[in-house]
Amino acid sequence: TTILEQGNINIHTENIFPIIKKWLYSDHEIFLRELVSNAVDAIQKLSMVARAGDFSGDITNPEIEITLDKDKGTLSVCDTGIGMTADEIKKYINQVAFSSAEEFISKYKDNADQPIIGHFGLGFYSSFMVASRVEIDSLSYQEGATAVHWSCDGTTQFELSDSDRSQHGTTITLTLMEDEKEYLEPARIRQLIKTYCDFMPVPIKLDGEVVNQHEALWKKSPSSLSDDDYLEFYRYLYPFQEDPLLWVHLNTDYPFVVNGILYFPKLQPDIDVTKSHIKLFCNQVFVTDNCEEVIPRFLMPLRGVIDSSDIPLNVSRSFLQNDRTVRRIADYIARKVADSLKQLYRSDRKQYVRSWQDLGTFVKFGSLNDEKFKQQVEDILIFRTTANLSQAQGDSAKVEVESGGDDVWQEVSANEESATDQRGYHYTTLKEYLERNKDRHENRVFYATDEVSQATYIELHKSQGLEVLFMDSFIDTHFVSFLEREYSDIKFSRVDADLDDTLVDREQDSEIVDPTTNKTRADQIKELFEQALNKPKVNIKPQALKGDATAPPAMVLLPEATRRMQEM
Ligand code: ADP
Ligand code: MG
Repeated sequence: TTILEQGNINIHTENIFPIIKKWLYSDHEIFLRELVSNAVDAIQKLSMVARAGDFSGDITNPEIEITLDKDKGTLSVCDTGIGMTADEIKKYINQVAFSSAEEFISKYKDNADQPIIGHFGLGFYSSFMVASRVEIDSLSYQEGATAVHWSCDGTTQFELSDSDRSQHGTTITLTLMEDEKEYLEPARIRQLIKTYCDFMPVPIKLDGEVVNQHEALWKKSPSSLSDDDYLEFYRYLYPFQEDPLLWVHLNTDYPFVVNGILYFPKLQPDIDVTKSHIKLFCNQVFVTDNCEEVIPRFLMPLRGVIDSSDIPLNVSRSFLQNDRTVRRIADYIARKVADSLKQLYRSDRKQYVRSWQDLGTFVKFGSLNDEKFKQQVEDILIFRTTANLSQAQGDSAKVEVESGGDDVWQEVSANEESATDQRGYHYTTLKEYLERNKDRHENRVFYATDEVSQATYIELHKSQGLEVLFMDSFIDTHFVSFLEREYSDIKFSRVDADLDDTLVDREQDSEIVDPTTNKTRADQIKELFEQALNKPKVNIKPQALKGDATAPPAMVLLPEATRRMQEM
């Protein structure tokens, strides 16, 4: 084919402008986030320029000041940053969707310490969502620069003139529209700064007072932080909540940048596991606390912050574009969480066991939902057991109990198999269980799902010297079938079903004939049960139990399959 013509596609500004203002951003309020982000960038840029030796003025007290003027109906954001010349305004402001970030970073990349927030070259125009007129007063840091004034009333026309600004930096002044007067209320602005700008690295003042400025703890090196720092930060983020059980500090630069701190909270019974409580940031700018895509579903009950400049945000920053990086970040987070659990299991088994009621739910949900996670944590999955593992520890440990009292014992056993929870219960992994019991019953696990209603059966097993695991939390119902699928060579027997010769003896004298009725004892018992249960078809084998006198004299046992059918 022959090319007839080549050329550039044009955008008709009058028509595209209203679309940008109306549809690009999800929420009017984010205009403030955008203006403050630009101000932060301007300040960061000036410090990079200074570090490169291209500016020798004072940069020691950078600040952003927000001023509200009810009489004039204006809101202004003033920074002490790099400023703009008239040419730069023409280049970066008058050209929609053109950011200076890339150009600037390529020039000063060696002097970067904070990343630049700007990216799309569209944030500035979000101010027209709330303002009928936007004005810029700016003085560039460059020697001999003159201050400029730019003004635009929301059409595609602008005006440039002189300004009397005498200090480097920029002031953006919005004349708010009639419907947007809420942004003249200091309380509203304070709330917006707290939400979006709380962790930005420059003081933001309103009425002369600094509003933001809690340190972005996640940007610091984990080795410089104490437990108290982490706890204090948690209390700041989630006031009036119980302290968390443990936390993970995420810190990676490659192959993507992710920083953050994730906390494991104590699980409240009414916790909504479908809602994420983690706050997502991008270069310390708050994006959303609704980051389902970045957090694997099973980790939803976690709390804390994730900050990543590599999470691909759309222009409005309010939601994520679904792509491969997001999935890789999610995988990375899951892996780090598993690592920290393994680390705790190894270094402080007592604390691990004591937190298990809460942690166990994460771990089991994770195993059910994520094969990779399951592989990582399968060796640290523990179950409460009827076995008294402190006895299994041998004599030296017992001597400690007797001679040293509780405290010494706890210290000695802190990292041993025998660590107990708050109620003194012992816990074991499946592997340890199978190993301990392999002589009695190979590849077979006895478990109970309800300590109260199955008490007799649990006692029965105990009296036979058989170890029973408790799988009695709400998630265990699913988890047992999951374990059966995962470990198909292991037989899982619920204590009240399917007992076999490991447990019961056909009682010798069940064949004895009762002289008054002329029936065998077995038949008598059978009849009794049939009458009592009113189910003549039930196959009843009267069986007596091995073991001590407290064991019940006989039991009706349903086949495991029947029991499950009944439950369903
Ligand atoms: P972005 O921040 O994504 O680059 P914006 O539309 O928010 O896009 O801003 C466009 C450009 O205008 C910025 O890249 C920057 O060069 C310039 N600019 C905006 N606000 C300021 C400011 N307060 N000080 C200096 N330059 C600014
Ligand atoms: Mg911007």
